[in-house]
Amino acid sequence: MENISKSVTLENVWKVFQDPQSGKDITAVEQADFVIAPGELVTLLGPSGCGKTTTLRMIAGFELPTRGRVLIGSEDITFLPPNRRDTAMVFQSYGLFPHMNVFDNVAYGLRLRKMPEKEITEKVMRFLGMVGLDALAKRPPSRLSGGQQQRVALARSLIVEPAVLLLDEPLSNLDALLREQMRVEIRRIQKSLGITAAYVTHDRVEAMSLSDRIIVMNKGKIVQIGSPHQVYRDPASAFVAGFIGKVAFFPAEVAGVDEHCTVKVRGRTFTLPRFSPGLKAGDSALVMCRPESLTLLPPGEGILDGRVTTNVYLGHSIESFVSTELGEILVQVDNPDARQIFAEGDAVSVSFIPELTKALPAGKE
Ligand code: ATP
Repeated sequence: MENISKSVTLENVWKVFQDPQSGKDITAVEQADFVIAPGELVTLLGPSGCGKTTTLRMIAGFELPTRGRVLIGSEDITFLPPNRRDTAMVFQSYGLFPHMNVFDNVAYGLRLRKMPEKEITEKVMRFLGMVGLDALAKRPPSRLSGGQQQRVALARSLIVEPAVLLLDEPLSNLDALLREQMRVEIRRIQKSLGITAAYVTHDRVEAMSLSDRIIVMNKGKIVQIGSPHQVYRDPASAFVAGFIGKVAFFPAEVAGVDEHCTVKVRGRTFTLPRFSPGLKAGDSALVMCRPESLTLLPPGEGILDGRVTTNVYLGHSIESFVSTELGEILVQVDNPDARQIFAEGDAVSVSFIPELTKALPAGKE
């Protein structure tokens, strides 16, 4: 592809809608500030209604920001109509033309641009090959599976060589297995073309497996921007920690902070390498633990006693659900063949590996 990748920049972008019934303002997006680097795939992730689709639609030009600027490369495109932006969008509902076959659907954008038919044929077949559909060029969309239709939609968007590809929950209509395959494929094609992409999803597994970076949103605000590993292991808040993956929180008190954070948890002292920057001695904190940050010991030897309620055997690990006075805690026991395994019904004690935890401020989102 000749296209040279471009960045996408949002500068202090806001979107305020008016509720059609009450006439009250709804702030859908508040102060969005970020740059998607050329060739980068960034996911907008967050719960329903957090403003991710509105953010994507402002990049596409389907919504005008109430305030702020949107740039592609160094060009301010805030007020450009969608068809004059160098973007293409893939929707959850595919949006194929039902009366055209696969070939004509993919050729559509090139015919609009009056490309000679011979070049169109060559290019359409190349892009259909890229998404594995060259054998189905003559089929109507009604005779394709959901996954095949989404591949056609993807090829149709990519063939016009947009600077930026925008994807709005493109896999939500597919079953779990297809979703997994398409995820890998979208990532492979996006990387091989070096295209800049913004991807909206509320599925954390999808976001983690696809993205260079994830923008986590909540209630219209960006609450963290980071690599999948950063948002998983070093979340900015308890909200991000819980949204990104399974987590248990131990209430703690900060005893001191230098390059590490020393905390007291249930009468014991631990030194944690990861902690929120604002924490200081005397603060209440939460020690965030992922299932693999936790270990099981005989009763009385760990931090919190409990009882194993269920063991789920996964081969490479066992997931042990432990009922405790802090609620049910999920402990991932890796390499079970080499460890003491506690059976369902056994009394146990839960402990954590300080290097795999993070101290977060208590009581904040
Ligand atoms: P979902 O995952 O459910 O699609 P989302 O994170 O994409 O959610 P948005 O669709 O961006 O969220 O919506 C953000 C907020 O803005 C919601 O409160 C929504 O009701 C509101 N909103 C979106 N579009 C409009 C509109 N055209 N008019 C009024 N309010 C709107």
